[in-house]
Amino acid sequence: MSTLYLHPDRLLPADESTRAIARRLYQEVEGLPIISPHGHTDPAWFADNEYFHNPTELLIKPDHYVFRLLYSLGVSMAALGLPCKAGEIVEQDPRKIWRLFARHYAAFRGTPTRLWMDYVFSSVFNLTQLLNENSADTYYERINEQLHTEAFRPRALMDRFNIEYLATTESPLDDLRHHRAIRGSDWCGGVITTYRPDPVVDPDYENFVDNVMALGELTGENTSSWAGYLSALRQRRDYFKTFGATATDHGHPSAQTSDLSLDQCRALFAKVLAGNHTTDEAEVFRGQMLTEMAAMSLDDELVMQLHPGSFRNHNPQVFRDYGRDKGADIPIQVEYVKALKPLLDKYGNDPRLSMIVFTLDESVYSRELAPLAGHYPALKLGPPWWFHDSPEGMRRFREQVTETAGFYNTVGFNDDTRAFLSIPARHDVARRMDCHFLARLVAEHRLPEGEARDVVVDLTYNLVKKAYKLK
Ligand SMILES: [Zn+2]
Repeated sequence: MSTLYLHPDRLLPADESTRAIARRLYQEVEGLPIISPHGHTDPAWFADNEYFHNPTELLIKPDHYVFRLLYSLGVSMAALGLPCKAGEIVEQDPRKIWRLFARHYAAFRGTPTRLWMDYVFSSVFNLTQLLNENSADTYYERINEQLHTEAFRPRALMDRFNIEYLATTESPLDDLRHHRAIRGSDWCGGVITTYRPDPVVDPDYENFVDNVMALGELTGENTSSWAGYLSALRQRRDYFKTFGATATDHGHPSAQTSDLSLDQCRALFAKVLAGNHTTDEAEVFRGQMLTEMAAMSLDDELVMQLHPGSFRNHNPQVFRDYGRDKGADIPIQVEYVKALKPLLDKYGNDPRLSMIVFTLDESVYSRELAPLAGHYPALKLGPPWWFHDSPEGMRRFREQVTETAGFYNTVGFNDDTRAFLSIPARHDVARRMDCHFLARLVAEHRLPEGEARDVVVDLTYNLVKKAYKLK
């Protein structure tokens, strides 16, 4: 039987003297509260505080990192229990799905998913043997048992994980009922929302026109007019702020921004509502909406996050049969220097604006993003995202960005996850990798250890709260 063991020095430098420094740095941040300013957990969990159903519902089904890799190895979505096209038999038995996952656990060797999962199994569920075909049933039973105890209800886990803030992400069309329930309860768990307007600002989004009309109904504004549309968006931002939102999030295909005249805006808006726009015009419209959102941010102080560069739903067959967010989103090349210029020309010098830019295209770290963030007061760099939320991704980020932008134009870590139980695991990886990077600077006499200590505390805690304006 193979043992599951989390080595206390995991991810720290292999070289003894650097490792000793990294260990000392890690001690400073190991116990700090988690600030999770960007993610996709379900607010209903914290509103209802019900038990999680079973290991499969909690650990496999919401995690697209898991099923994308299994799918790539020939495991069907139906066998993983994901609802799909008519006629296909979908596996209903959570235990069978768990066994399938266990049988394929070797697929995750060398991936961050393996690190996160092992951390969850060991630290959260106290399991002591490795997951494989033979231990699958024991795992299922031990996890399932614990999930039905008080200590594993969502709010209890929030406390146990020491999460000070947890941001979820909602559309402006969301009535935020779960956030309202949380705020109306006697529990103050630091769950806040984030304003994600893609469904109403992206002409290529499913049901865009209906969404814009629904926005009108929700706000009592005439969203067929440009002015009414903007004021409806503004009204929803204010509404989100009453549920703790301090940020907006924009998931666009590119980083393009635009700065059109009022007449051009009105004409383009009429065109996208009529649905007779070109692909390029949709790009220009999204770009204009980023600039409009920046203007609104100057008034209401919401921090902007831009997540460009994902080719969503790349696999048309998977999209048709299973819908979005099924692991079929693939990164594309992204250009920032020219794309962000219209917005930066207008607002880039205003320190009241805070725009956090992320990338899935690592080739731009040193050439574009670090120089931009190392110059414009309004720009900050988000942490390695999605495919780069990994030890090597974090190392590449610090190596390519720090010399030009420093640490203080970055914003700490985001877990960006739906997988609630993996949040401590993900933050722990980020903390260890920051210690790893800083320990090298100390060992090479490029930074005194006392300063490295300050930096790692800032990266873990202070900088995140400052960047996201969390009190
Ligand atoms: Zn996200």
